[in-house]
Amino acid sequence: MEKKVRLRFAPSPTGGLHMGGVRTALFSYLFAKKHGGDFVLRIEDTDQTRYVNGAEEYIINALKWCGIEPNEGVGFGDGPYAPYRQSERKDLGIYKKYSDQLIASGHAYVAFDTSEELDEMRKRLEAAKVVAPQYNAITRQNMRNSLTLPEDEVKKLMDEGAPYVVRLKVPRNEEIRFHDIIRGWVTVNSSQVDDKVLLKSDGMPTYHLAHIVDDIEMKISHAVRGEEWLPSAPSHILIYRYLGLENDMPKLAHLPLILKPDGNGKLSKRDKSGLPMFPINWHDERTGESYIGYKESGFTADAFINMLALLGWNPGDNREIMSKEELIANFSFERVNKSGAKFDPEKTKWFNQQYLRMQTDEQLAASVTPLLEGKGITKDRAFVQEFCRLVKEKAHFVTEFYDLGSYFFIAPTQYDEKVLAKKWNENSKATYTKLSEKLNSLESWSTTSIHDLFAAAEPELGKIDMQLVRVLTTGVAGGAQLFDMLALLGKEEVLTRLKNALTTLS
Ligand code: GLU
Repeated sequence: MEKKVRLRFAPSPTGGLHMGGVRTALFSYLFAKKHGGDFVLRIEDTDQTRYVNGAEEYIINALKWCGIEPNEGVGFGDGPYAPYRQSERKDLGIYKKYSDQLIASGHAYVAFDTSEELDEMRKRLEAAKVVAPQYNAITRQNMRNSLTLPEDEVKKLMDEGAPYVVRLKVPRNEEIRFHDIIRGWVTVNSSQVDDKVLLKSDGMPTYHLAHIVDDIEMKISHAVRGEEWLPSAPSHILIYRYLGLENDMPKLAHLPLILKPDGNGKLSKRDKSGLPMFPINWHDERTGESYIGYKESGFTADAFINMLALLGWNPGDNREIMSKEELIANFSFERVNKSGAKFDPEKTKWFNQQYLRMQTDEQLAASVTPLLEGKGITKDRAFVQEFCRLVKEKAHFVTEFYDLGSYFFIAPTQYDEKVLAKKWNENSKATYTKLSEKLNSLESWSTTSIHDLFAAAEPELGKIDMQLVRVLTTGVAGGAQLFDMLALLGKEEVLTRLKNALTTLS
C-alpha cells in the first residue's frame, strides 16, 4: 500500500528562516496539499550550541505570514506524533534505542577520542597529503574506539563514565546507490563517506540520526531539503539499510541552490541586490544583526511565494502569475530543475507589481492608510482610496505610494524650475489668476466639471498649459491625471495652492 503523503519542514532554530528555507517549506507544502497529505513542522534543535533565541518563534511567524501553514507541529497544534521538538523527543528514548540497535548489529561503534586526539589525527593526515581527512574505515583503526580497544577496556571506560560518541561503521569501498526524485539515481563510493557521529557525548543525537528516527516514527513519505544535504545522503541510506528500514524510508528530494543574481555562487543572507533575504524582519539577538523582511518592504505574501515557487520550478508552460491554489494544483518535483536557480531582483519586484494591480483600491487603501498614519497623515478612507487609484499604476509596492503622490498631502513651496523656465511668461500671472477666479466660481467640484471649465475658459484665456497648472498646484512636473488630481485635492486646497504660487512667482 502506498504511504499516506506526509512531508515535514525540519529547520534548526539556529537563525532566521531565509528565503531559501522558505522555498523548501513551500515546495513541501505544495506537494503535501496537492496529494491531500499532511505538512508537519519539526524543530531540529539537537545542536544546543547553535540555538538562537527567537529563531523558533520567527520560523512560525514567517510560515504564518507566507500562508504556508503546517497542519501539525510546533506552533501549529499537536498531531499524533507529538512532541515535535527533537530536544523533547530525546526523552522518549527513541534515538538511543535506534543507536543501540545499530551497535548491537555491528553497524555502529563507540569512540572515546578526545578533541585533541581528533585534531592530531587530522594534522597527521594533512601532513601525509590526504585531501579530505576523515574518520573512516582506515583511520578508525588508529583511534580509540570499541573496534580497536580490548572489550574489557571498553567496558571499564564506560563504567568510569568516560565521554564517548557513537559512530556509524561505514564499510570500505562499497557502492551506495540511492534515488532522488529530482536528480534520479545517484551513486557514491563509501570511501568518500565518513563514520558519522550518531550520538554525541551529551547523549543528544546528531542531525543524521535524529532526522532518520523522526522521519520513520512520524511516517514521513517525502524528505525535501536543500542541495547542501546531498553529500550526507549516502550515510543516511546506510543508516536506513542497517536498521532494516530501507523500504520504509521517505523518498528524497534535494532542491537546487538559489544563486546570486549574477549566477556566481549561492545567494547569501547578506546579498546586496537591495531586496530582502528574509520573509519578515529578522533580528539576530546573538550577533545583533538585523535584516529587513519582504513583508515590511511592502511585498504581499502571495507575490512572494509565487516568485519563490518559480525559483527552480515551472508549471511546464509559460504561466508566471499563479495563485497558491494554482501552484498546488500544478506542482510536481519532476518539474524542479537540477541546476541552481538565479535570484532575479527585478523580476521579484515585477511579481509584486502584478499582485498590486490585482488588488482593489479598497484593499490598497487598507494597506496604505497605516503607512500614511505613520507619517502623521490622517485622511478619510474615500480620499485614500482615490489617492491609491491615481498613483498605483507606477508603483511596485504600497510603500512607494506616498512618495509617488506626496503632493496630495503636502502643499508645494517650490516649483519645478525647468517647467517654469520654459513655460512661465509675462502673461502667465494674469492668465492663471483668471483661471483661479473661474475655478472659485465652480459650484460642483469634480473631474468632469473641472475639465469642462478648462475647455470653456480657453477661448477667453488662450491656451491653458496643463503642465503649468500641475506645477503651480503640486510643485512637480509629472504625476496623477491632472483633473482627477485637482478633483481629489478639493476646491479650497487647489485655490489656496494657486494663490500661493501666484504670489510667489512674479
Ligand atoms: N535540520 C536540517 C536543516 O536545518 C533539516 C534538513 C532536512 O530537512 O533533513 O536544514
